[in-house]
Amino acid sequence: MEINGLVPLHAYSVLKVVEYKEKRFVLLRNPWGNSEWTGPWSDGSPEWTDEWRGALELLDHRPGNDGVFVMEYRDFLKQFAVLESTKLFDESWVVSSYWMQLRGLKIDRAWSYGDVSWTFAISEKTPAVIVLQQIDTRYFMDHAGWLQFNFDFVLFKKGSKEPIARPVKPMPASRSVNLEIELEPGEYVVHARIDIDESCRQEWYHESVGSWNRRKVARQKAERAIAYSIASNFRQADYIDQLPVPLEVFADRDVVEVGIEAVETSRVAYLRRKTLITASSKTHSRASTGWFGHDGETNNHEEDGSKGMLLLGGKEVTTEPETDSVCEENPSEGVSPHGNVHCDGCGSPINGPRFYCVDSRCSDYNLCELCSGVGIHPREHRLLRLETPEEADKFLGSTVPHGTLNDDENPSLVLGLRVYTHKESPATIEGFIGHIRNIKQSVKSG
Ligand SMILES: [Zn+2]
Ligand SMILES: [Zn+2]
Repeated sequence: MEINGLVPLHAYSVLKVVEYKEKRFVLLRNPWGNSEWTGPWSDGSPEWTDEWRGALELLDHRPGNDGVFVMEYRDFLKQFAVLESTKLFDESWVVSSYWMQLRGLKIDRAWSYGDVSWTFAISEKTPAVIVLQQIDTRYFMDHAGWLQFNFDFVLFKKGSKEPIARPVKPMPASRSVNLEIELEPGEYVVHARIDIDESCRQEWYHESVGSWNRRKVARQKAERAIAYSIASNFRQADYIDQLPVPLEVFADRDVVEVGIEAVETSRVAYLRRKTLITASSKTHSRASTGWFGHDGETNNHEEDGSKGMLLLGGKEVTTEPETDSVCEENPSEGVSPHGNVHCDGCGSPINGPRFYCVDSRCSDYNLCELCSGVGIHPREHRLLRLETPEEADKFLGSTVPHGTLNDDENPSLVLGLRVYTHKESPATIEGFIGHIRNIKQSVKSG
């Protein structure tokens, strides 16, 4: 279908604009190099009388089937819905970005804010371009799954309940949405709203995968995993079969040597955590428990607020394995087992309250009460205390648990906020994933 030679849902480039005898003209090009506008002022149309030859000269246009054509500005406005321009950022600009992977997004739910937000701070007044972007969807389209994501956002300044700006409405299935704005110094919040659409039936992947070239699929999945690794909460373990191992990991050692070292390293890390927890749990009965810090001096648990962080950074770590299991010492054992949720500190099933990390850099990270108090996890990560499995179900309902991630069946969205500013005023960005559901709200009615 064409409208006067123009192809619907197709992009053309604007080469030139001129004004001649109070008429405005636009010179356009179809990137195909053929197929042109056939309406008024098109190549060879009766409007091009001698009186208007001068306009053709200004436009430097010669008629011919090369995809280049002229439109009058008012026709151009009628035929095109979106005009996009390219902004070139020179050395006077800097960009800050923060990417996150959103899992477990559901199609059968309200179109709402609350899945994800970012905060950023600006120190000096600056022009800015705020871009919300997803990982290239076209390139991974072959196995992108059955969901298609669209999104928009709202910008708030901290201290004000009124939004200060929104991006221009994007085309459907856009890779990004953009906002150009002058920013005053201060802190800002960006709330995104994600629209999920079915691009095909959910069974489509399984029905078609049999006919695909497996080698190509494997290569593309690896590329996709590498692209996703930009996310702050990327879990390498979920993509272990898809990601190639870099050669420098092996280098001058044989593969068995490297394998043995990997096992040893993970055991040492586990024992370090365990020693830490055991030391802490013993402080309940002992006056003080010391361990070695950075400088080799003994640090006292009771006096030092940073607790186990020192031990993790310390050079002298004793990792004598304790024979008794840590969570056998857990005083609250048996109170409320959280199904098969295991503590990422001690590895035992969680009894008593479950401490769920809501930081965007962690994904499904849980600690038992004992492990939550010994500083094995970064202190700035906020931990959500969940007393019972019912509470966890209610507030974390849509969280995809460990081991069930499959980007083909449950497509995830990798979304990043980029903030371009003048380099004197770089933006410091942080991202937040809305893990907590059932946020109480007063919905206006009547
Ligand atoms: Zn634990
Ligand atoms: Zn965390």
